[in-house]
Amino acid sequence: MKLRVFCDFDGTVAQNDVGNLVFTTFGDKDHWWKLVKEWEQGKLEGREMWRKQAAISRMTPSQLNDFAATQAIDPTFPAFVEFCKSRRFPVYVVSDGMDAYISRILKHNGLDDLIVLSNHMDVSSTGILQVEFPYYENGCGACANCKGLHVTKETKPGETSIYIGDGYSDKCALAIADITFAKDDLLSYCREKDFPCRPYRNFEQVQKELEELLNDDQK
Ligand SMILES: [Mg+2]
Ligand SMILES: [Zn+2]
Repeated sequence: MKLRVFCDFDGTVAQNDVGNLVFTTFGDKDHWWKLVKEWEQGKLEGREMWRKQAAISRMTPSQLNDFAATQAIDPTFPAFVEFCKSRRFPVYVVSDGMDAYISRILKHNGLDDLIVLSNHMDVSSTGILQVEFPYYENGCGACANCKGLHVTKETKPGETSIYIGDGYSDKCALAIADITFAKDDLLSYCREKDFPCRPYRNFEQVQKELEELLNDDQK
């Protein structure tokens, strides 16, 4: 059994929703939540939401470096990555957030060799932000970076796709991934919509369940 593993970043690899924190810290808190709500209600397209957030936020590279250094990841994630590497299962970080903070946090934790598929944000020394959406095309249109598209495109015939997430931005991957691990808002959403999923709390649990799955597969 060959697995291909897709992990959400905010609230999944990172303990906090760093996207929320970055833009409520360096942007306008009330505005952030208002725009996120509109996006969740389908009133605002993902790219528009990000463009508006970026326009009202200011952060310099060094401010973002300092901020990223304070953000913890799930302490069981590095061992999970090692487990996947030892079995040659590719691991992707897929995010509808921004590479600017994701790459800094991964690097800080010695995980900068992971494949990251996310939106792009340029952080200039003047604090002005510029956002780009390299994976928007062929997505669902509502997401700036549709995770369902990545699971579809990356998974090879015969492989089993594994998706691990926690929130609203993961919902496009649900119908596509072979096995979904869900917590928090994503778990509530799965239960509400009757989507099959495996509840989890951390990557150690995900690893255990995958090990069992692989053992059963060999029997
Ligand atoms: Mg998340
Ligand atoms: Zn989508």
